[in-house]
Amino acid sequence: MVTRITHWIDGAPVAGTSGRTADVYDPATGEVTGAVDLASPSEVDAAVASAKAAAKTWRTSSLSTRSAVLFAFRQLLHDHAEELGRIVTAEHGKVLSDAAGEIARALENVEFACGVPQLLKGGFSEQAATGVDVYSIRQPLGVVAGITPFNFPAMVPIWMCANAIACGNAFICKPSEKDPSASLFLAELWKKAGLPDGVFTVLHGDKVAVDGLLEHPDVAAISFVGSTPIARYIYERGTAHGKRVQALGGAKNHMVVLPDADVDLAADAAVSAAYGSAGERCMAVSVTVAVGDIGDALVEAIAARLPKLRVGAGTDPDSEMGPLITAESRDRVLSYIEAGAQAGATVVVDGREGDLPSSGFFVGPTLVDGVTPSMSVYTDEIFGPVLSVVRAETYDEAVELVNSNPFANGVAIFTRDGGAARRFQFEIEVGMVGINVPIPVPVAYYSFGGWKASLFGDTHMYGPEGMNFYTRGKVVTSRWPDPATSTVDLGFPRTR
Ligand code: NAD
Repeated sequence: MVTRITHWIDGAPVAGTSGRTADVYDPATGEVTGAVDLASPSEVDAAVASAKAAAKTWRTSSLSTRSAVLFAFRQLLHDHAEELGRIVTAEHGKVLSDAAGEIARALENVEFACGVPQLLKGGFSEQAATGVDVYSIRQPLGVVAGITPFNFPAMVPIWMCANAIACGNAFICKPSEKDPSASLFLAELWKKAGLPDGVFTVLHGDKVAVDGLLEHPDVAAISFVGSTPIARYIYERGTAHGKRVQALGGAKNHMVVLPDADVDLAADAAVSAAYGSAGERCMAVSVTVAVGDIGDALVEAIAARLPKLRVGAGTDPDSEMGPLITAESRDRVLSYIEAGAQAGATVVVDGREGDLPSSGFFVGPTLVDGVTPSMSVYTDEIFGPVLSVVRAETYDEAVELVNSNPFANGVAIFTRDGGAARRFQFEIEVGMVGINVPIPVPVAYYSFGGWKASLFGDTHMYGPEGMNFYTRGKVVTSRWPDPATSTVDLGFPRTR
């Protein structure tokens, strides 16, 4: 049975009228399970008009009202985490425990936004000049849109909407068309939490919907998370239309293992971070840089762990790694393994072989050694369960390799030497750094974002930078003088 997946506008499901839909799959079976509506330009206009009207009222709501809605949403998300996890797994394919992890991290973002009364406190300077007070306030932008990737269909929309809504904006979510149902479930939870209709909208679509949002005069800001070519496009087109844009792109995350590291600990971390969610995480480790003489032992320890990983349907509680999102994605990953082998790398563990489910979009965990920086298996973001090992003779060589890479989302160092780790933290040109932590996703009260080709714009996602992104500052200078003291003074105002 194929389910029709509709938009959510004005607090209710709205069937698309464009006549265009996209197939949604169960990646574990390869079967089509849904048909998601793809918005036309006039449907973009309708969604933005509804959001614009809602934003006007929502910005007048008190901070305590907004906070109360966020607390209610947080409780509902907590209570329905399992149900939402099943929705994520059904369309994305990740194992249920991984989907639960995604929702747990999303809850942290909502909990942060519950503190909006504290977070939006401005500054106040009494007597900045005689009888003059100066204070700062932050006000919402109006209608803001979020364009999200397939790999975190619940968490990434929440990275954006919790803060955007807390700040008094109306938020339009344009989810990935590959796994669109989680965002509709979030819309229902927002409604149950008491959020007024129109403040949270789900507009499904492809490039047509995205371009409509990028060009719409009533959309003030765009948050984007996805691949680098599209992030660059979103940033350029959105800013050309006068919008505030934060666009997070792709990644190639290195894990540098120094010779003094504990081999088993490093191997456990590399396997967890490379193959969790089948490598479809923007913070997945895709390159291990083995420094000095640790390489052979490390490769052996990683390789020994891979046959034990249980690959299967995400719904099976025994599975540790699920399928990839689509057949195209699977074929793309397979082509990179082949290209690596052709280029002279050693495929130590080959995910094309072994005991995989016969249907669905599965690739087994793959380990490629002897990778050099010119091979496509190194240069490109593969976004699958493929871990490359690059050998470096020295610490400096490893740092040079990481800093030369155009991507700069996350990086990790494994060592027992605090001095080396401190030096690495100082020298490495990457936005998020882990010290003996393979996936250093910042907690919700910091902000998330890479550097270079992993981020376009200057504002990271969620946390304090998220609050800034979704508000604009205003500074008020005020005095209540005695009219009897008033004079004309053409000099430039000075503080006295
Ligand atoms: P994607 O770039 O293909 O799609 C992301 C969004 O952009 C989707 O909503 C999609 O509908 C839309 N889109 C796709 N093509 C478009 C086009 N030509 N014009 C306008 N809009 C378009 O990314 P994806 O495959 O869904 O997600 C995986 C990518 O996201 C990986 O590169 C991953 O590294 C990245 N990612 C980055 C982060 C981060 O925080 N930096 C987090 C998660 C995922």
